[in-house]
Amino acid sequence: MIRDRLCGLWRGGGRTLRLWLRLYWPVLVLMLLLGLCLMLRDAGTVTIAGFAVLAPLTRTIQDGPHSGVTTEATLEVMREERSPKYKVVLPGCPATPPGLLGRLKVVEKVSVSDVEARQRVVVRAGGRWWPEECEARWRLAVIVPYRDRQHQIGPFLNHMHPFLQRQQLNYSIYFVEQAGSDLFNRARLLNVGFLEAVKEGPWDCYAFHDVDMLPENDHHLYHCSPQPRHLAVATSINNYKDSAKLPYNTYFGGACLMAEAHLRRVNGWSNIYWGWGGEDDDMWRRIKFTDMRVWRYPPRVARYTMIRHRPQPVNELRYRLLKRNTGRYPRDGLSTLNYTVTTTRLPLYTHLLAHIGASTDPTGDIVH
Ligand code: UDP
Ligand code: MN
Repeated sequence: MIRDRLCGLWRGGGRTLRLWLRLYWPVLVLMLLLGLCLMLRDAGTVTIAGFAVLAPLTRTIQDGPHSGVTTEATLEVMREERSPKYKVVLPGCPATPPGLLGRLKVVEKVSVSDVEARQRVVVRAGGRWWPEECEARWRLAVIVPYRDRQHQIGPFLNHMHPFLQRQQLNYSIYFVEQAGSDLFNRARLLNVGFLEAVKEGPWDCYAFHDVDMLPENDHHLYHCSPQPRHLAVATSINNYKDSAKLPYNTYFGGACLMAEAHLRRVNGWSNIYWGWGGEDDDMWRRIKFTDMRVWRYPPRVARYTMIRHRPQPVNELRYRLLKRNTGRYPRDGLSTLNYTVTTTRLPLYTHLLAHIGASTDPTGDIVH
């Protein structure tokens, strides 16, 4: 009796299932397809000519990202990765990077080889890095003017690589070294760094960054702002006084961030400041004169340790040069710079050895 009833139920249930399958199989197929699509998205797919093809999420740098010196072939692969025909589909990185630490310790004594031992695994030749787990929101070229500060390269790389990685930026680090022993010309080196980095772009922002300035808080995000941004607002060398409250509120030195459009609008940095001082004030004036404004984050986050060093010879001409800068800027900057450069991809940065002319070269009428 019970057995008959159970069999009846089973047969009835079977009929219902068959009926259900007959009516709803298209819905089932659709749901299966949807599930498959979601799985593909999470696994990381490669889109070729508009079709999603399942593929492992790998990068195809043939000659090894850590081989020391990057060949043209590697660069070609890097370019191809950015081209639309080969696109890794990843979710965008979050607006607030999840791994930020806040206040940071600055290590002032560390050798480049020690940093290489740690960072070589993650950083590609020439100091290139981008997050693998999401599509970076910003592409950043970091440009460091440099000469004869070997002991500061290790601390800079040791601090900046993890700092930029925690911010999930797609970045590259360029050291622009001045060839020869003439007076140092920071601004010319920054122009060279910009013009060379542009060729490997596109970059959204350019950080013009002294080698001895190390940010103390990784909430100080290296994202472009709608206006040029002064980064080194409160520095150890100034007892962390807010630059906005300094007797003259026009300090633009140490480190700053500009988009390509900002820099082109002011014709880059002035070429005529040799020795210490003036070139950053000159940039401040260019920005004002072209109707832009300097932005700053609060000194609480925009804090920097400056590694101490011997001072460079002061440029006594700087006040005279600053006086006429606004009328002069279209004839003095990116558009008038002559240089030659030798590029070497080192494991943790791109080294540009720049011949930028001599302080004694005639500058025509632009100095006066
Ligand atoms: N710099 C350099 N070698 C020099 C002079 C300057 O590498 O002989 C670079 C370095 O990046 C340095 C920046 O130019 O951080 C600014 O120069 P300096 O530190 O002398 O100026 P400060 O900001 O300390 O007044
Ligand atoms: Mn310094």
